[in-house]
Amino acid sequence: MDYEAVIGLEVHAQLTTCSKIFTPSSTEFGHGVNELTDPVTLGMPGCLPVLNKKVVEYAIMLGLATDCQIRKRNRFARKHYFYPDLPKGYQISQYEEPICEHGNIKVRFDDTVRSIGITRIHMEEDAGKNIHDPRSGTSLVDLNRAGVPLLEIVSEPDLRTPAEASAYLKTMRKILRFLEICDGNMEEGSMRCDANVSVRPVGETKFGTRTELKNINSFKFVEKALEYEIARQIAVIKAGDVVIQETRLFDSETGTTHAMRSKEESADYRYFPDPDLPELKIQKSLIEAVRDSMPVLPEEARTKLIEVYGLSEYDADVITAERLFVDYFEEAFQICSNAKATANWLTSELFGYLNKEAIRFEDCKVSARDLGTLIKLIETDVLSGKMAKVVFEEMFNTGKSPEQIVEEQGLKQITDPEEIRKTVTSVIDENPTQLEQYLGGNDKLFGFFVGQTMKKSGGSMNPKVVNEILKDELEKRKG
Ligand code: ADP
Ligand code: MG
Repeated sequence: MDYEAVIGLEVHAQLTTCSKIFTPSSTEFGHGVNELTDPVTLGMPGCLPVLNKKVVEYAIMLGLATDCQIRKRNRFARKHYFYPDLPKGYQISQYEEPICEHGNIKVRFDDTVRSIGITRIHMEEDAGKNIHDPRSGTSLVDLNRAGVPLLEIVSEPDLRTPAEASAYLKTMRKILRFLEICDGNMEEGSMRCDANVSVRPVGETKFGTRTELKNINSFKFVEKALEYEIARQIAVIKAGDVVIQETRLFDSETGTTHAMRSKEESADYRYFPDPDLPELKIQKSLIEAVRDSMPVLPEEARTKLIEVYGLSEYDADVITAERLFVDYFEEAFQICSNAKATANWLTSELFGYLNKEAIRFEDCKVSARDLGTLIKLIETDVLSGKMAKVVFEEMFNTGKSPEQIVEEQGLKQITDPEEIRKTVTSVIDENPTQLEQYLGGNDKLFGFFVGQTMKKSGGSMNPKVVNEILKDELEKRKG
């Protein structure tokens, strides 16, 4: 019998707000242990949380970007559990009334596009971190991360393969990064993912029992963990056993998962509305203001690049990998008005150099304006394609503008017909043997004359004009 997998992902996105979700303490990375705390973060009795408005705006933004309904009335709930990194004994989260529900996103995978349902998105606070010291055998608690705002994004069980799950995750990351509400760094934990998976015989419509996989901190590991777990569940069923609903930990060293704890039910958490926080009413005007402030989204940008700028799907995919690339492309295009050339210079030359030199795009010295200007210099025949590459290399290394480099190195392309004609006639006169052969019918020698002319001008003459004038001059010798 053949089995298929059913997968649903829970993504935790750490928001890039300056302060925490319920206190003004900073969220900045890299501070000393427990420097970013305050009575609310420490869970001191009697201290009241005050909601950070930015978190609400970011949640609405993500909700709109994922086609969700935004709930007008919101309530925070306490989720109770004990762990040393949670001093209050409960996490402030949302339960029955999450801010966003019933959405979906388009996920492109190979050549197919699938709509994956978003069950809900809710706001919550992050917990602190336990630091275990194996040498002393002690554990210490760092509460800098406690109270950092998170959005939990829960997908419908719509995914069917590990590769599809990874594509969903990448798409979600892209959306978060375009919105600039989360940096999406899985290795550093600013985007985290739990994967829920079950298997069932192909053709069966009911879902099987799921397990929840934790500790997956890269896109590669999502696929690996799911592949292992799917094979494990199928083996369990084939052996006549049943899959147990449980939470399992992924071990990236061995590529396996092992049972961590039996799956807690929501009743175990004793959820109830947090009496410290009043009901949150979201006005239509806030939703509209957020909508107006939204940047272009990856899918919109992709469509625009293909339909308005006429780029290939491939180029559009490369450029929409990051919002920075899209902005850069558009700024360069504004100057040169040649979309295809802009895409080529950006994705081949610029990305190629960045790769080779291991420089981040953010640190690139070539501004979009300057790349646009370089392309314009080619379009207006000031530079040949070959010269432009030389100029580009200098731009990349020094950050100088193309105009400055052209000026300094006297790189201007010669297009003046009079000057070109002089060189062309002298080349013809200096090569009587070749001329005779050409006139005798050896057409291939045309290329020889072009080459000699270009060489004589140090490669600075416009080849198109050289061709035209050479044709003309050779024609004259025929008569
Ligand atoms: P919990 O708090 O129990 O983890 P959530 O609602 O946060 O529950 O998340 C449940 C996740 O599990 C969702 O992403 C959902 O799509 C997925 N899921 C639910 N049932 C199944 C199933 N039978 N097989 C695979 N995934 C499932
Ligand atoms: Mg869960």
